[in-house]
Amino acid sequence: MDVGVIVPSWQYWANPIKLQPLWELYYATLIADRVADANVQLIDLRVGGIDPSAIPECDVYFYWIMKSADAVEVYATHAALSFRFPRSQHFAGGNHVDHHADACAARFDASFIGTAEEQIVQAFQDRQDGRLERLYRTAGASPFAAYRHARRDFLPDDRIVNSEHFAQHGGFPGTGVSFSRGCSFHCRFCVYNNPSKFEYRNPEQITAEIEDLKRDYAIEGVNLRDEVCIPMNKVVATGYLNAIGRTGVRWRGQTVTIASEEMVQLAAESGCVELALGLENVESDRVLEIIDKPSKSIAANRRFIELLKKHNIKVKVCLIFGLPGETDAVLDRTMEFLDEVRPDYVAVSGFDPVPGSAIYADPAAYGITRIDSDLSRHAHLLYRFGDAEDVGLPFEYAEQTPFGPGRRRERIVADLCSIQSWLRERGMTY
Ligand code: SF4
Repeated sequence: MDVGVIVPSWQYWANPIKLQPLWELYYATLIADRVADANVQLIDLRVGGIDPSAIPECDVYFYWIMKSADAVEVYATHAALSFRFPRSQHFAGGNHVDHHADACAARFDASFIGTAEEQIVQAFQDRQDGRLERLYRTAGASPFAAYRHARRDFLPDDRIVNSEHFAQHGGFPGTGVSFSRGCSFHCRFCVYNNPSKFEYRNPEQITAEIEDLKRDYAIEGVNLRDEVCIPMNKVVATGYLNAIGRTGVRWRGQTVTIASEEMVQLAAESGCVELALGLENVESDRVLEIIDKPSKSIAANRRFIELLKKHNIKVKVCLIFGLPGETDAVLDRTMEFLDEVRPDYVAVSGFDPVPGSAIYADPAAYGITRIDSDLSRHAHLLYRFGDAEDVGLPFEYAEQTPFGPGRRRERIVADLCSIQSWLRERGMTY
């Protein structure tokens, strides 16, 4: 049985090859390991573009749709392959499917809600037995640590390791990894807290995966794709950071701003060279309250940045313009904050009330009157890699919102363009 795991083109990235398709590799590994007679290949549409006529025939195509922005392309690919290969079957899971279960169950031969490892294996068995179901839901515990790490050899080496992950640190060879999945916080704009609790790999698995990558790809650094890369629990964090540290690699990741100094110091000692912080807004604590960030204090966020600098960890600040509760003062306040705090890098994205988020579920509560139904316009956060790119912002605020006057879309767009130019002039973007 030929199984093709499809990697979408990721057309919204300036350099889609830089990051590795970790979830597609992970599920390809699971299917290859657990489904008898499965001949699994990764079909990587990031290279060569979206041309369904170039995709080889398979018995089953598997899509793991993490962003709704990929859904339109995946739907088109599915339709084209179904037409070319009418006997093929199509399985889909991922964040987008979790949040659009009925639409996906109507479209695909089998859809998976949740992390679904055992349900995927079951679906292949059911297919064999002629009783495939349209919808499979994850039932009971399916912990991340119960499964082995993703094989990378479904892709050529140059799509696994590159110098881009650590371009700001001398360009030593690196690759992406995920040592946890899910998130137990509830930021109102987010869909990546799914599963809604952190699931960590155990320390032995973390060390073993890095050692495999060092041996097979000569990597010297790992880019952690975890949503929060310093675990909140001290015991878990200590095991996790020591597991990375004993491999001798350097690493970067993203985290929230509530780790203790002891854990920050341990992160530095374990090889951390850079942390990205989703501060989201530096205009007012009220915005942080509205979007329910783990840290709701700009002053505390500022102190956390100072802590990272003290331990020689470079800081990337991530901000969002257009959030509910923001005012027309956001541009000036943001520039003041960045001038004072002087992070190493800054990324400012446009807000997107992405399908599946709490804000999308109840837009009126946030003063939003319209959300664009075109899924291709929703990409969690909307980052522009240059002035030629569309700003996005697929929504409008009412004139009056529960938090005061609604910002006009044109004003948010202008502020976004201004801050991005301001940052580029200062060499603070990458
Ligand atoms: S934004 Fe980050 S911290 Fe907040 S819920 Fe999403 S993944 Fe968790």
